[in-house]
Amino acid sequence: MSSRIQPNTDPFALAREVSGHHVIDGKMTAPASGRMFDVVNPATGAVIGQAAEGGAADVDIAVAAAARAQKEWAKVPARQRGKLIAECGRLLNDHVEELGRLVALETGKALRTESRVEASVLADMFIFFGGLGSELKGETIPFNPDMLTMTLREPIGVVGAIIPWNVPLLLMAMKIAPAVVAGNSIVVKSAEEAPLTALRVVQLMQQVLPPGVVNILSGDGPACGAPLVAHPKVGKVTFTGSVETGKIVYKAAAEKLIPVTLELGGKSPMIVMGDADLERAVGGAITGMRFTRQGQSCTASSRIYVHDSIHDEFVSRLKAKVDAMKMGDPLDETTDIGTIISPDQFEKVGRYIRLGQETKGAKAHVCSALPTDPALNKGLFVQPVIFTEIHPDSPPAKEEIFGPVACIFRFTDYEEVIARANDSEYGLAATIWTRDLKTAMDATRRLEAGFVQVNQNLVVQATLSYGGVKNSGLGKEASLEAMLEHFTHKKTVIINMT
Ligand code: ADP
Repeated sequence: MSSRIQPNTDPFALAREVSGHHVIDGKMTAPASGRMFDVVNPATGAVIGQAAEGGAADVDIAVAAAARAQKEWAKVPARQRGKLIAECGRLLNDHVEELGRLVALETGKALRTESRVEASVLADMFIFFGGLGSELKGETIPFNPDMLTMTLREPIGVVGAIIPWNVPLLLMAMKIAPAVVAGNSIVVKSAEEAPLTALRVVQLMQQVLPPGVVNILSGDGPACGAPLVAHPKVGKVTFTGSVETGKIVYKAAAEKLIPVTLELGGKSPMIVMGDADLERAVGGAITGMRFTRQGQSCTASSRIYVHDSIHDEFVSRLKAKVDAMKMGDPLDETTDIGTIISPDQFEKVGRYIRLGQETKGAKAHVCSALPTDPALNKGLFVQPVIFTEIHPDSPPAKEEIFGPVACIFRFTDYEEVIARANDSEYGLAATIWTRDLKTAMDATRRLEAGFVQVNQNLVVQATLSYGGVKNSGLGKEASLEAMLEHFTHKKTVIINMT
């Protein structure tokens, strides 16, 4: 074990070191086309490395390797598979600092508040699923005394996983760990904007797992993701991304009649009743809106309904707290808020902010301050904006922005606010803040969301099923249920003993 890869905490050097590869069949592999694309540091605009430009030929090679490996992997006892995944978790834990620094460099998310935390949650997710190998149990069914009747949980085969850029490490862990513990092999397609840290994770895992069990490709969605979804040997697709692409993936999977898990967008409501603990609710809006991640979260509490009696006080306390957050170099330990991921997203967020500012009656509270360091003057920094008195049908109030933009609405009537909270195409998460148990219980039943919290705003937790309703997606992740229901087939067996 002494020959294990040592952590490299210089993210610039590490970005160069891992550039230009996929990981296929246990090896760092150049793309079939020989083509690369640039990976850019969004805090400076500088190119930090190159990613392999994958296409259908790479997909074929990776899926063939995964299919070969899966046959042997499925024969490894389930608990042993789990132990190996837990070992990957421990190994990744030894690399938290390097992974945190690299993901901060390529995504612009601040190291202290976001990127290091994400790297440690990645390791934890592997450790969690690593303990679940022996849970791949079936049932016995009292069908007939002469017939022993049972169900078996069997792996599906090769899983195709497509991940986005906003939390690439957490999301890849939520897909790889359960799929592989369940006896599948997997081919991951990373996001164009964040390919390097995801690649590094899979490179590190090769030190523990047999070759071909976990593979990763980088490349463009239509050129590399689409052939992965369509590949005849891929028996399951797990996707996190936009609603638009989710529908394309769902249609392609329907052509092969394979199961799909989709984690898509959100525009999550947060309801603050007049009796809420105000300070706690303001803190919940900060974490819920993911201001430290520039709001780049599908779970972001971006529609905040505050009772008229406390509305103005809530807004001023929230603004003061966001004002106190420091924007700056993502790698600087004193930075709270880094950058938006890419010029396209920067444009999109800016467009929504302008639309809000132009909306009649709306007030834009622009928070915090742009960094003054000249080295960052090409950085994709966006000052957080809190809109008040904004029309609920205006685009910033209704549509997913994926940026640091929160809309705060006044309400007076509980029935009305529940209806407004549910008046959305999305249903990923919701929170309610109140000291009244009856209101809390009633709201938890009536809010249309996959994840409802009262008086807190936690992020995704290993153990708890995570996934939305309506346009927010299909299926669950991060839990035992997710592994059993979404990464196995249930086979019914009858043994006639007469
Ligand atoms: P975002 O707006 O966050 O970039 P996307 O849904 O476009 O959201 O991207 C999420 C992931 O889906 C990325 O890895 C992207 O490359 C991939 N993707 C995009 N288009 C397709 C497609 N047609 N088929 C499969 N994957 C795709």
